[in-house]
Amino acid sequence: MRRVSVFGSTGSVGQNTLDLIRREPKDYEIIALTGGRNVAQLARDAREFDAKLAVTAYDDQLEPLQEALSGTEIAVGAGENAILEAADRPADWIMSAIVGAAGLAPGLRVLKHGTTLALANKESLVAAGPLLLNTARKYGATILPVDSEHSAVFQSLVGEEINAVETVTITASGGPFRDWPANRMARATLQEALNHPNWAMGQRITIDSASMFNKALELIETKEFFGLNADQIKVLVHPESRVHALVEFVDGAMMAHLGAPDMRHAIGYALHWPKRRNLPVERLDLAGIGQLRFEAPDEARFPALRLARNVMKTGGLAGAVFNAAKERALDGFIAGQIGFMDMANVVEDVLTQMSLPVGHKDAPFTLDNVAKADHLARIRTSEIIEKTRIKA
Ligand code: NAD
Ligand code: MG
Repeated sequence: MRRVSVFGSTGSVGQNTLDLIRREPKDYEIIALTGGRNVAQLARDAREFDAKLAVTAYDDQLEPLQEALSGTEIAVGAGENAILEAADRPADWIMSAIVGAAGLAPGLRVLKHGTTLALANKESLVAAGPLLLNTARKYGATILPVDSEHSAVFQSLVGEEINAVETVTITASGGPFRDWPANRMARATLQEALNHPNWAMGQRITIDSASMFNKALELIETKEFFGLNADQIKVLVHPESRVHALVEFVDGAMMAHLGAPDMRHAIGYALHWPKRRNLPVERLDLAGIGQLRFEAPDEARFPALRLARNVMKTGGLAGAVFNAAKERALDGFIAGQIGFMDMANVVEDVLTQMSLPVGHKDAPFTLDNVAKADHLARIRTSEIIEKTRIKA
């Protein structure tokens, strides 16, 4: 029996994780599940899996969660500290599938127990990659990538030496606006941005895929996770989303990882690693697909990619600023405060204005400093969004 906790269990990755566990219930004991406002789902899952603990991120959801779990032995908690306490509960495998920078503190806490952390929460690597990796090293913990591209790279590197890698290419579907002209993208609505051609995901990452901010985060995630140089990492638009990543070696060989666009593959690989087990994902019918297309990304329409390269060059806390500004700009787009293309402009302005205070490479990489940079970046982003609104 493996003891498992799922952070962000009510979300898209969280539910896919529980779907895999549901198929082999005897193999797992569920320790903690955490969610946000969707307490009905959280309570349903906690009952089904007989979790020891269920936690909502929001204090005002404590009562509804208590009610939904009354008559059970399941312990209940609410708020950030309760999530950290859930991270302290001994477990063997923990899924980090909270969306946004809120996933950083619980992830770090898990690593301090020397546990295996399956990391879907890419924002924590973008904001604080060195902090996460150093913590894992210090406490003998293992971080396994769950983002599909990074799982693909990880799998392509089995038995290889990282020094033998020349380049790594992560693919992008191109999202719903792959061939839209820039002026149409500028007027794109929330509904249009949510219309992803290949992947079913949470709302925020779906919009980030349409703007390629998701790929921008993933560039930084690749650099941090595999310790590569920024100029070794490439993005390739691949509308079919079957090739997830390609690793090119110094001898000219290129290893590609292919699979159906189904997160249960990457989650299942991390769950069973270092073994492979049968997974309920569609098998590829390449003859049926017929053609796999590849094209260079258009950085004029998807400036997020250029911004990510600047962030990698700057280093230090620039990733924390970039991620926080992106999260706040995304809130602004969802709330109808700014247009779709404004998101990148706003984030670029924040990066320019904050590059001096955060650019110092020697600022110690602590959770406190990351949180401060994140906080300042959100305030600055709100100010710039307000100005953009007044101009429009
Ligand atoms: P989602 O929005 O569907 O779910 C997010 C989860 O986090 C929910 O359980 C929610 O309740 C919880 N949450 C939200 N705000 C929180 C907060 N402030 N504190 C604590 N918990 C909070 O998101 P998702 O699509 O499942 O993505 C989760 C993470 O995985 C993200 O980092 C995303 O980038 C990454 N990821 C997702 C996919 C995918 O296919 N969905 C693929 C690769 C990577
Ligand atoms: Mg991905």
